[in-house]
Amino acid sequence: MKPIVLAVSGHDPTGGAGIQADIEAILSQGCHPCTLVTCLTSQDTRNVHRLYPQPPEILAAQWAVLRSDMPIQAVKIGLLGSAEIASRLGALLRDDPCETVILDPVLRAGGGTELADERLIEVLCEELLPLTTVVTPNLQEARRLSGKELPHQCADWLLARGCQAVLITGGDEPTPLVYNTLYWKHHHKTFTWEKLPGGAHGSGCTLAASLAALLARGLELEEAVRKAQQYTWNAIKYAFRPGKGRKIPYRFFWS
Ligand code: PLP
Repeated sequence: MKPIVLAVSGHDPTGGAGIQADIEAILSQGCHPCTLVTCLTSQDTRNVHRLYPQPPEILAAQWAVLRSDMPIQAVKIGLLGSAEIASRLGALLRDDPCETVILDPVLRAGGGTELADERLIEVLCEELLPLTTVVTPNLQEARRLSGKELPHQCADWLLARGCQAVLITGGDEPTPLVYNTLYWKHHHKTFTWEKLPGGAHGSGCTLAASLAALLARGLELEEAVRKAQQYTWNAIKYAFRPGKGRKIPYRFFWS
């Protein structure tokens, strides 16, 4: 049976990020995607215009029905849209834990719109990080969550909140190559990648969802993190531009 990965994220009508990105990445890694939509958005490939958070009661009702039907090997959490829905998700995961939880802390859209207020950041740190297997912030998000400056200081702070591993991505940093560093227990490992021009809308979702699927398939942490980056790098390499803004990753490049 295919491992089941539950993506809990927002809906992006462009198909670049959010739930659709998760579905494509999870399918590409040979798992079955299930989905819970935390918020709707209106956005184009340039920026997010507005968020429409879902009532937490809907999330809880959908979760209960789904969980009574299927085993879930991994949960991928992306855009949450409100502190209320984040907090309810935390309570659901505490009552009914899942072995693998990947948390992609989506704080700001690539186009600049803020997607998380201070209350949501507090819930991410206090209620969701302790339940998390791997958190996947970019360096700006890691700094905003932790209030620290240097990557290893951010990672130490996030690990102290109770997550098992931190993957800090550097794709948005002004360096000639991309450096992504995984921190776990008392180890760290930096992965270096050729920088692809322009980046792509939805690359963070692609990385986190493919990582959730690879861990659901039973890969070891380091290998899953390497493979998820390789998959994301290829999806960005073959990215295409369906609208007037940024490119979106081609997550079926392998087909
Ligand atoms: N919309 C949704 C639903 C998302 O999940 C995300 C990121 O995870 C975004 C927009 C922003 O994507 P990006 O920062 O790649 O533009």
